Amino acid sequence: MSQRFIKNFSFHEAVDYFRETGEKEYRAKQLFIWLYEMNADSFDVMTNFSKELRNRLKKEFIISPLTLRERLVSKKDGTEKFLFETRDGQFIESVFIRNDGSDTGRLTVCVSSQIGCQMGCRFCQTAKVGFRRDLQTAEILDQLSRIRRVTGLKNNNVVFMGMGEPFMNYENVMKAADIMNYSFGFHISARKITISTSGLMDHIERFIDEKRPYNLAISLNDTVSEKRKLYMPVEKKYPFAKISKLLREKLPASKNRVTIEYVMRKDNIKPEDAARLKKMFKYGRIKLNVIPLSRGEYDLEVPAADEIDDFIKELESMNIPVSVRKSLGSDICGACGQLSGKKYDL
Ligand code: SAH
Ligand code: SF4
Repeated sequence: MSQRFIKNFSFHEAVDYFRETGEKEYRAKQLFIWLYEMNADSFDVMTNFSKELRNRLKKEFIISPLTLRERLVSKKDGTEKFLFETRDGQFIESVFIRNDGSDTGRLTVCVSSQIGCQMGCRFCQTAKVGFRRDLQTAEILDQLSRIRRVTGLKNNNVVFMGMGEPFMNYENVMKAADIMNYSFGFHISARKITISTSGLMDHIERFIDEKRPYNLAISLNDTVSEKRKLYMPVEKKYPFAKISKLLREKLPASKNRVTIEYVMRKDNIKPEDAARLKKMFKYGRIKLNVIPLSRGEYDLEVPAADEIDDFIKELESMNIPVSVRKSLGSDICGACGQLSGKKYDL
């Protein structure tokens, strides 16, 4: 029998497994504490399991599906980028961000949800890889386990903003988010887990209807449909106007917090864009997050610092709640939209 990844178990699947193999159900909780709270990397350390059980688990399961191949640390801001190899010889990247530059403040892991991405956004490096496959739940979770082990720090924030479109891999992503959130899993508050989508409307609706407690980030990036289509092909199938209508209908009865992400290029930060942004949403629980375009292998122009400042001032003068995402890790290609799973020469 080929070995399975044990971190693919949801809690209930682990309970079922132990019950079906003649063990007590509370073993599931013990297993989760070992895997996530204690970050065990071998069954041998699970000393409250009998030797027989440890040996059986060892035969049947693999704990860590990823192998760390490279760790780059930014000299500018301490942001770290990790390159991992999967068991089938593919590469994914994750980023560890010290948001205030220290080890004690907000510590974010930006996780990948797919190998490559099929959404084809023009400004994104991951799009250039094309699509290889979805990540399994275990491969998503192991990014956190590995980074916690290597850095010796427990991240308290997670963003699904690495490689891939999380809603194209909905089931595995939600299972991973739930385990990140469990008190005997990684124990990260649901308010500190953010799932970012390019705008798959059916899945946004499903996410809200299923009362998923996580934050939602939706990448808008253009206020005019015809223009958005040019940069984000997803606009053809799911026009943003329909998504904002859906949010208007569904959000009042839900608890989700929504952020609209807006990557600033030279050609989408005119005062008219700010005015259209103002009209598009009833801001309250919706916030706007603007991100300077990261440099990449595309012929798009990065706006100058004073152009960015002007745009932000314009938004603020309209009372739009806006935050600016600092572009951390840019010297290690660890900034937004720069992840390609490529091995970089140091
Ligand atoms: N696929 C999801 C999540 C991964 S991308 C999504 O698109 O939302 C995470 C964020 O990075 C998105 O908001 C995306 O618009 C942004 N991004 C992509 N390319 C970028 C670039 N070159 N510079 C800055 N941000 C970028
Ligand atoms: Fe995929 Fe997001 Fe990149 Fe678009 S921006 S190609 S959806 S990873």
